[in-house]
Amino acid sequence: MNINKQIQVLIPEMREWRHHIHQNPEIAYEENNTSDFIAKKLNEFGIEVHRGFGGTGIVGVIHGQHKGTSNKSIGIRADMDALPMSEKTNLIYSSKNEGKMHACGHDGHSTMLLGAAKYLAQTRNFCGTVYCIFQPAEEGGNAGAKAMINDGLFTKFHIDSVWGIHNWPGVPVGQAVIHKGFAMAGGDIIILTIEGKGGHAAQPQFSNDPIVSAGLTITALQTAISRQLNPFDQAVLSLTKINGGSAFNVIPDNVSIGGTLRSTNKKTRDEMLTKIKKIASNACDINNCKVNLEIRPGYPSTINDIKSAEFASKVFEDTFGIGSLDKIEKPTMTSEDFSYMLQEKPGAYIWLGAGENSEKLHSVYYDFNDELLPIGATYWSNLAETILTK
Ligand SMILES: [Zn+2]
Ligand SMILES: [Zn+2]
Repeated sequence: MNINKQIQVLIPEMREWRHHIHQNPEIAYEENNTSDFIAKKLNEFGIEVHRGFGGTGIVGVIHGQHKGTSNKSIGIRADMDALPMSEKTNLIYSSKNEGKMHACGHDGHSTMLLGAAKYLAQTRNFCGTVYCIFQPAEEGGNAGAKAMINDGLFTKFHIDSVWGIHNWPGVPVGQAVIHKGFAMAGGDIIILTIEGKGGHAAQPQFSNDPIVSAGLTITALQTAISRQLNPFDQAVLSLTKINGGSAFNVIPDNVSIGGTLRSTNKKTRDEMLTKIKKIASNACDINNCKVNLEIRPGYPSTINDIKSAEFASKVFEDTFGIGSLDKIEKPTMTSEDFSYMLQEKPGAYIWLGAGENSEKLHSVYYDFNDELLPIGATYWSNLAETILTK
């Protein structure tokens, strides 16, 4: 593995930063101390710091030595937020904030970018500009990436392309997965409210029973993906919540069913939402019930620009050697708000192997693998220096 020598030197302090952020986790839009810590470091490195994007978001601007010769630029993004859950790792740098935990490795993502920022500010061996984007609120549908865009990320700064990393348990350390195109699903929350007519359980003939309609709807919806979606398209529909009824001898007025639809592109998403509505409506009609479909839109699909993904693959393989890329590139049905940035600018989001033995993301036992710190920082630096070549 070819770790940049100047980044190798930064490993002890990168570990310290990472453990500090890990110990002091903050959740969506509350990343005030984390943001202060990162901004202070960027200032120390001599980097121009802009704050207040999406609340706690930061943009660090690094001009190359050869600034006058090019107006090329790249945006490198890391996420800063933790999750609302209690850590059980028993590490010495375990969370000090009860009920909050860095269980997705965003402490590591921020640190890898800080390490690269320090190196790039020291050397500035490129022409053009590197924008280091530290975003709030990736988790839980809070869309910190979108909030930064709404606050002018791409209008106040001239950013040609955007790049992201997520650590990925299960993929060996030193390897990456870089999808040419579709990487991660879009996810929407759906809520079906079935309106019937309640009454006495012993006199069903005077009611329109929404419990029976809910049962028919759930069963009928199992055919939406299996029988109505083109087998070459992908989507997942999981119904995960059902609420209704209050007594053993009363037919309720209504029942609600909730769940999530995951899809790989807008066309499939729109098609499936239409089908869900039609299937539910027909199933409820059998029993004279009405149904309302509420859609709470989630993150769009994460789709890498193919040329950018090929470019990132080349940089990664040139840096870490033949065999460092997972060629299967299996996508996942989880979602990611970097998708909003990829809708605005070309770029690529890569999964950086966190090792086969790493705990899974969002586990109470998870801890970011520090071996990745110099790998991620080296990749970022090489990517910047290669794109912004003199
Ligand atoms: Zn996560
Ligand atoms: Zn994450």
